[in-house]
Amino acid sequence: MPLIIKDEYPKKLFREDGKRLDGRDKHELRPIKMEVGVIKNADGSAYLEWGNNKIFAAVYGPRDVHPHHLAKSDRGILRIFYRMATYSVFERKRPAPGRREKEISMVISDCLEPVLFLELYPGTSFEVFIEVIDADGGTRCAGTTVAALALADAGIPMRSLVTSVALGKIDGEIVVDLSGIEDKAGQADLPCAITWFNDQLSLLQFDGDMTLEEMNKCLDLAPDILKRIYEMQLNALKEKYLKIREEVNKSEEIATEGGEQ
Ligand code: ADP
Repeated sequence: MPLIIKDEYPKKLFREDGKRLDGRDKHELRPIKMEVGVIKNADGSAYLEWGNNKIFAAVYGPRDVHPHHLAKSDRGILRIFYRMATYSVFERKRPAPGRREKEISMVISDCLEPVLFLELYPGTSFEVFIEVIDADGGTRCAGTTVAALALADAGIPMRSLVTSVALGKIDGEIVVDLSGIEDKAGQADLPCAITWFNDQLSLLQFDGDMTLEEMNKCLDLAPDILKRIYEMQLNALKEKYLKIREEVNKSEEIATEGGEQ
């Protein structure tokens, strides 16, 4: 991919061979890798590589609410802290959380809250820290996806997982999973998320220019794309339990061998 300097974006976002600049087809996702249980001190955690995005999520809770005045006597609260590291983007980003980070934290919180049983945890909080250490477009979607995984890893009762992806328009074509350059130089960006227990969209944002027909095309494409990412989330969770089972089997074997001698 060509090196992008400051605001010099490529004029065309498709190559001569019809592929996108990073070699993908229109409806192809970037490579995705997920792992759970990556932060020992957290109640639950997950790590996600999604194209060039690298994101950690750590979950703590249910625990006391600080500051106390935020506590609700009839339910627990969900607090999301989405942060983009200052070294995560080409230009130095101000370290203090800005308006964008606060907005994304709120959006992610709205996406995840419907799947939690907060009414069962009065006076407590669930805190989810989403740390973007490398950012290349679609971090709110990737952040939502990895945060849902970390909540599941924490063993917190959930109605279902939540999965998120952005669709959009570049050079007049509808594409899936916009990269950073596509996000900036493209015509439209449509991040969406789904809660699987009721198949409802819990996020739908829009930025850019698109006809109603094009938006409907995006929404038609979304379920299949989201399903593919959902399978990866499930596999990441299964992977952890398969590893634990393997370790238990091994230690049982060792114990049996020891007993036989
Ligand atoms: P998202 O990451 O969800 O697509 P945006 O559309 O706001 O959110 O940002 C698109 C991309 O622009 C980010 O993924 C990141 O690569 C880059 N970006 C965002 N904020 C900054 C910033 N303050 N400085 C430099 N790059 C940024």
